[in-house]
Amino acid sequence: MSFASLGLQAELLGAVSAQGYTTPTPVQSKTIPFILEGRDVLAGAQTGTGKTAAFTLPILQLLNGRERTGKLPRALVLTPTRELAAQVEESVRTYGKGLHLKSTVIFGGVGINPQIDQLRRGVDIIVATPGRLLDHAGQKTVNLSQIEILVLDEADRMLDMGFIHDIKRILKLLPNKRQNLLFSATYTDDIKRLADGLLHNPELVEVARRNTAAELVTQVVHPVGHSRKRELLSHLIKGGGWKQVLVFTRTKHGANRLATQLASDGINATAIHGNKSQSARTKALADFKSGAVRTLVATDIAARGLDIDSLPHVVNFDLPNVPEDYVHRIGRTGRAGETGCALSLVSGEEKGLLNDIHKVLGHKIPVEVIAGFEHDANAPAAPAQRPGSHNHATPRKTSGFSRQPSRRR
Ligand code: AMP
Repeated sequence: MSFASLGLQAELLGAVSAQGYTTPTPVQSKTIPFILEGRDVLAGAQTGTGKTAAFTLPILQLLNGRERTGKLPRALVLTPTRELAAQVEESVRTYGKGLHLKSTVIFGGVGINPQIDQLRRGVDIIVATPGRLLDHAGQKTVNLSQIEILVLDEADRMLDMGFIHDIKRILKLLPNKRQNLLFSATYTDDIKRLADGLLHNPELVEVARRNTAAELVTQVVHPVGHSRKRELLSHLIKGGGWKQVLVFTRTKHGANRLATQLASDGINATAIHGNKSQSARTKALADFKSGAVRTLVATDIAARGLDIDSLPHVVNFDLPNVPEDYVHRIGRTGRAGETGCALSLVSGEEKGLLNDIHKVLGHKIPVEVIAGFEHDANAPAAPAQRPGSHNHATPRKTSGFSRQPSRRR
């Protein structure tokens, strides 16, 4: 299967090969032809499956092939976070390089006036978070009456974050006749309800089973007492010579504290979370991507949608309270066919959370005790260890999306 066989035009094929993509991912090969036909699509696809290109490429082609009557935006992509909005819009620019379409990104936490200027000059594609878009709508600096294509990206996360009312308000500003694309990692009842009200006779595309962990990700649990987690993490990062690691903590405060502690261990680390200014977050991400910062410590919400190519290591410093967040977290690694490793540092108190994660995954994560960091008495069950020995349980690999058959339902 090639990108050309999906019906994409030469400019887009050029942009895709400039990115080094040779073969469409399953969500791309399933979704792109339907979108090009003008169909509504409900796609079950996690981050890391290539979903952004799956909707961006055909939208660019559709808009490019249609006559533009005025300056008003014709496509709207809604995302749950600023970071994801910025990254999706970057993809729009990258893939649309050979075309003459204009795009802009709209999110809060930054000045509104440059956004107003952009909108006034005219754009074809808006990528936005719901709140700031509604601010613009309220002060009439955006007119959504000519939107032809709507995308809800990471719709499940938008609902988790309480955006349902904002989404409904935005839908009222759109024309009735339009194409709707809904991307979601999970099919909850809320997503079904949203889809029922939004999509007309949609094509259903699913590329990963519900709640399956990201593909090609080796998962392992390291039992360790709570008070020694930081020491173990430093040991792993230094001992493994890890170049790039994303570490999840449950709280913003925990993220800050851990980044400071790692720095005092001589590990270049920075924290990214919702309390930081947008420019601080953008800088942290840029430093991490460039390799200037080796360790990024993030909370779940801040990490959502971070597009970091081939991230080799993800560490759960704290287990998430919501087990589905584990799946989202480890989706940060093992992207687009690369292998990755997701490690969880689990203290005795987190046993219940680990069990919940096992239920969602449908299997247990292999346990490996690191010598010298044996867990305390309450830690999750691990095979008995002789002092100083390693349990070389082979971490299990989940199936790769490239090999997992895509199902169209
Ligand atoms: P996404 O699921 O949209 O966040 O994409 C995950 C990653 O896969 C991004 O870093 C993309 O650049 C990359 N990617 C998207 N499509 C392909 C492809 N066909 N081949 C290789 N990598 C891809």
